[in-house]
Amino acid sequence: MSGIQLHPHDILDEGMPQIMSYIRKLKDVRYIFPEVNTIFERNPNPVGNLPRNAVHEVVFGTGTMHAILPSYQGLDQRREPGLSDEQDPLMIIKESLQEEHYEIIPWLNILNGHFEGPLLAHNLVTDLDGQVIPHWLCPNAPDVIDFWEQALIDLRKRYGYTTYMIDRIRYPDWGGEEVNPRGLLTCFCPHCERKMKEQHIDVSALKNNLRQWITLFAEKKFDDAVTFAENNALIQEWIAFRQQSVTGFVERLIERVRTVNEDFTLWLDLWPPAYSWMLGQDYASITKCSPALKHFPYHKLGGGADVQGLIHYLAHTADEQEQAFQAFKRFFALPYDLTYEMFKQEGFPIQFVADQNNKVRSLSDPNTRIYSGIQMWNISPQNLIEAVQAGENSAADELLYYCYGWAADELFEALQTYREKGMN
Ligand SMILES: [Zn+2]
Repeated sequence: MSGIQLHPHDILDEGMPQIMSYIRKLKDVRYIFPEVNTIFERNPNPVGNLPRNAVHEVVFGTGTMHAILPSYQGLDQRREPGLSDEQDPLMIIKESLQEEHYEIIPWLNILNGHFEGPLLAHNLVTDLDGQVIPHWLCPNAPDVIDFWEQALIDLRKRYGYTTYMIDRIRYPDWGGEEVNPRGLLTCFCPHCERKMKEQHIDVSALKNNLRQWITLFAEKKFDDAVTFAENNALIQEWIAFRQQSVTGFVERLIERVRTVNEDFTLWLDLWPPAYSWMLGQDYASITKCSPALKHFPYHKLGGGADVQGLIHYLAHTADEQEQAFQAFKRFFALPYDLTYEMFKQEGFPIQFVADQNNKVRSLSDPNTRIYSGIQMWNISPQNLIEAVQAGENSAADELLYYCYGWAADELFEALQTYREKGMN
């Protein structure tokens, strides 16, 4: 049975009766994933209006917590202004679906958001020049796990849920409000540097090697840059260190909350495996912690990565952009014979969906259920059905539609027709 993601503004602005009338059109939805704390994102992303929202045409997420929780000393997340007992989206959805067979799995963004408090500066991701990356918490920083342990326990107390989808369990990517690949060259906070030294990683040599790597990009030697990183033992150790840091954080978080209540279960939201390894996500180790995961193999959008943003940041002439794109495909093992021009028109081929799902299956723990994220906005009905079929014909177990509030009516209708008649 598939799932669908909701944002807090969907619940407050549209109300559950309207939302459910659309979700029922999809026929096979069992799991509803209401987002509890937002990220800095335009809804819908990157352009357009919310198709059914009578209150807001567009909503800008500001990284706030939309659940009623105690305030925490030290490190906390900013509460959404206007949150109250009457305007409490997670309680509204819980109460409205009490008699229904749907399962609600609250969705949490863990390491990225509007965090605050006197200990914030002590917990931020830091680049190799010592600059902090705003709004990103380090998985090795001490107060982050304390905050999330307490927040999960308090969420259960108020709302009763013990299963959560955890997202943004990674280091920053290069995208966001502005393209910045330096977010990838992290983390050099005091906690990470100490931990690397304990593992006998030479931190200053690593920084020098990362700077040499940057120089190759600046000189537009993109293919050489790929070879350099692949053959550089320190860069490879650093990539593995980031993966251990994220997996270790999730393992410790699960262990801590299970000490309080053994029913706590965390599902994982990961990047597709083409990119995940570079962001600190190692499918093989992290899936041992979890019964289910979701990833988003959007083929049209390059697998959810801002590929064009990165290429345009790195290269300016058409010739350089083509070279950068070919190197990008090599670095991320994307075996598709297409030019940058073709990619800009069409994205990756539909085969990307099945390829990434099959890769997730082979890398993940055999007991982990795999949800293939289905892009449900900014796409034609025909492309949507193709993506659904590609997901169904792959090694993924289920589909997860992203997301309710951005999806045009015609896409719900196309899926309804497909489910009822087996055709579009
Ligand atoms: Zn760090």
